[in-house]
Amino acid sequence: MTNSNVIVVGSGVAGLSAAVRLSLAGRHVTLVERNQYLGGRTRSFKDETTGDVVDNGQHLLMGCYHDTIEYLQLIGSRHLAILQPSLHIDFADVATGQRSSLHASGLPAPAHVFTGLLQLSSIPIADRIRLVNVGIELLRLSARKEQLLRSLTVEEWLKKLGQSEKVRTYLWDVIAIGSLNDSPSNVSALPFVRVLRSAFFGHRTNASMLIPKVGLSELLVDPAARLISEKGGQVRLGAAAKSVRIDNGRATGILLESGESLDADDVILAVPHFAASSLLADSEVSQKASALHSSPIITVNLWFDRPVMEPEFVALLNGRMQWAFNRSKMLHTGGSGQYIACVISGAGSYVDFEKDQLVKVAVDDLSAVFPAARAAVVRHSLVLKEMRATFSPTPAAEKIRTSIASRIPHLHIAGDWTNTGLPATIEGAVMSGRKAAEGVTAG
Ligand SMILES: Cc1cc2nc3c(=O)[nH]c(=O)nc-3n(C[C@H](O)[C@H](O)[C@H](O)COP(=O)(O)OP(=O)(O)OC[C@H]3O[C@@H](n4cnc5c(N)ncnc54)[C@H](O)[C@@H]3O)c2cc1C
Repeated sequence: MTNSNVIVVGSGVAGLSAAVRLSLAGRHVTLVERNQYLGGRTRSFKDETTGDVVDNGQHLLMGCYHDTIEYLQLIGSRHLAILQPSLHIDFADVATGQRSSLHASGLPAPAHVFTGLLQLSSIPIADRIRLVNVGIELLRLSARKEQLLRSLTVEEWLKKLGQSEKVRTYLWDVIAIGSLNDSPSNVSALPFVRVLRSAFFGHRTNASMLIPKVGLSELLVDPAARLISEKGGQVRLGAAAKSVRIDNGRATGILLESGESLDADDVILAVPHFAASSLLADSEVSQKASALHSSPIITVNLWFDRPVMEPEFVALLNGRMQWAFNRSKMLHTGGSGQYIACVISGAGSYVDFEKDQLVKVAVDDLSAVFPAARAAVVRHSLVLKEMRATFSPTPAAEKIRTSIASRIPHLHIAGDWTNTGLPATIEGAVMSGRKAAEGVTAG
């Protein structure tokens, strides 16, 4: 038997966030991870052919990710992500080839975003005026309204506010699918409204993109693991928890699949919803976790023989790909070619596509908006399908999430699927880890 103060199960950003805070608070932490690598759904690796750093899926962070920014400061990697001074997003319409941009104005929040939206040339003037309905609705959020929003889908909510199909396609769906990872006709309006409020209100840079300049492991994972070890904690790879040990009604440690038993004063379970259900066999939380459904994200990594796109990233309208990221520019990879990562969120209809089909779809979409891509040669490609990228925040899922809490003393539950009020994001995961750590230190 090994003695340990706090055991954290799972080394995604939720587990790391908890482990870092507890290590800094003087606790002895043992972090156990099933895989041979750390980071869970935020990790990077070196592509064998090109030597470039590839993420398991391109991630975007935002200025409103306050817990994440604090976490980056704690682990010393805040300087590795650049915050836009003011929100700027380029759009490119795959159907027409037209380009447009959203720039926040110099006004204070939330007027800075709304004045920017009012100038969005891809949207007809009448639709731009009706954007004000959404602004008013965001200002008037109350507890009673939250209940109503939880059971409405994003599409129903936007239609109620007079948002036309055009403005939904050209603006709202881009934000909804990107942040909630499923179709606006499936997902609950409540987490969408929370995303919009946290981005548009408060400080002006809440709406800005926070752009990683390095791979996800270098930004979010490796410095955290170093900190935990430097503070005397233990990081164990290839250590899969089989169950949480409960003695006399309280959590007292975990049993590993290897048969080893680890003691702890507190256990933090920071695994995804689909793993939590088996670890907590038979508990109420386990049943709730197993009622959540996952939604996939596909990333098509393309290495062109020449530069094809200028912006750092672009939202692709009316395309099959939804975003294209100029990784060469973001990560300063150098060389004469260009490395671009194209992303499809809520990718259920594409998961059966073969690699070559997905590469063709991505090249076709890029060629429609960036003429240089038409003559360019794809020298290398890598398609990554994350089948269980996030849970889908449907109205039913959002109802379940309001009541996820451990009733077992000294057992704490973290992860992007818990009751964070946010969709499955880095911010939600980091926040859940902070709250679990606070639960431990509060005794
Ligand atoms: C392709 C992709 C793109 C995304 N894009 C964005 C984005 O742009 N912006 C954004 O904010 N978010 C994005 N997300 C979501 C974000 O990555 C997740 O919400 C977040 O990483 C979840 O962190 P977590 O710690 O809750 O879970 P995880 O990262 O899944 O960590 C859980 C860990 O627990 C481990 N584990 C499971 N079972 C056991 C066991 N029995 N014993 C020990 N360990 C176990 C797992 O191996 C894993 O390492 C994206 C996700 C994906 C996959």
